[in-house]
Amino acid sequence: MADRIFLSAPHMSGNEQKYINEAFETNWIAPLGPNVNAFEEELATYAGTEGAAALSSGTAAIHLALDLLGVGKGDVVFCSSLTFIASANPIVYLGAEPVFIDSEPETWNMSPVALENAFKETKAAGKLPKAVVVVNLYGQSAKMDELIEICDRYGVPVVEDAAESLGSTYKDKKSGTFGKFGVYSFNGNKIITTSGGGMLVSNDTEELKRARFLATQARDQAKHYQHSVVGYNYRLSNILAGVGRAQLEVLDKRVEEKRAVFERYVEGLGDIEGLEFMPELEETTSNRWLSVMTLNPEMIKVAPYDLIDALEAENIEARPVWKPLHMQPVFDGNKFYAHAEDEVISEQLFATGVCLPSGTTMTIEEQQRVIKLIRTFLQIL
Ligand SMILES: *Cc1c(COP(=O)(O)O)cnc(C)c1O
Repeated sequence: MADRIFLSAPHMSGNEQKYINEAFETNWIAPLGPNVNAFEEELATYAGTEGAAALSSGTAAIHLALDLLGVGKGDVVFCSSLTFIASANPIVYLGAEPVFIDSEPETWNMSPVALENAFKETKAAGKLPKAVVVVNLYGQSAKMDELIEICDRYGVPVVEDAAESLGSTYKDKKSGTFGKFGVYSFNGNKIITTSGGGMLVSNDTEELKRARFLATQARDQAKHYQHSVVGYNYRLSNILAGVGRAQLEVLDKRVEEKRAVFERYVEGLGDIEGLEFMPELEETTSNRWLSVMTLNPEMIKVAPYDLIDALEAENIEARPVWKPLHMQPVFDGNKFYAHAEDEVISEQLFATGVCLPSGTTMTIEEQQRVIKLIRTFLQIL
């Protein structure tokens, strides 16, 4: 059996050990230290924000962002439906209720039409959401101008879940920098990784200070241990921040490599009728974290799940598109706003989408094998 081809395997730069060694030599083996501070500064510089707070995960960053925005018991928070569950779980941690918003076809991300409808209805009912979590799926930025215009009009802050879109741009600005808070993830399969970790970015340095305070058990200034509010243990370790610094050095290179992976899929499969690739909105650059395609069931008789199983039998990892959160058993009964009455875009994408192996450690030969196998399974030779 050939070596396994993963969906998106970690890809080290070679410099990680240097920063880890520094941490060991100076005995900064803690969730604070020089690598943490430097990683925050370097990432804020990269993103173009006033600051950043290094955290133990992207989920922790979303949790803190919502906490800082005052989300609490009985509140409503709007959230993209087509996403990983980590976008919405922190809403529930805080005792609030997620209301899910459909995708639109040009970015696969939050539909401004559905968002406007959700706002109209909730406003008529006399209760606006406390925040809106906008997700940038698979590296593609959502329609930020349209979404932020709506949110501003209703006076509701945006948390941008850019866990998958670090390195992407929207109108020449880095993805993740459009909301009141932006969130990045350094989980093992993301475009850069610290094995596990996350970052909260913002232009509000006071709020970031508060985030660091809450992330270290909300310890008051005092010689003894004193606490006036409930906090978390959410800081990133100084060792892992070292890994992050070395990874950040190669982020732009990884974006280029991911985009090259995507281009090879387009070259190898783009002629197949009924097979379409995830679009890239004008004036945006996607980091193409994952290369994703859809199979039109009217033109292609092979179902996405059968293709995924067939690839698995060849030791190749492919996945369906995220199952929309409004379809998840855990959110049974939560409200959902569709893009159009007769058109639920997120459900269509879930039914037809396939995430292809997109790792930057994948060789060109390996990718050619994936392409050839897909052509064989789809019976297009
Ligand atoms: C990975 C991911 C997260 C969570 O990040 P972790 O670092 O794994 O906690 C949140 N949202 C989206 C869209 C993600 O893909």
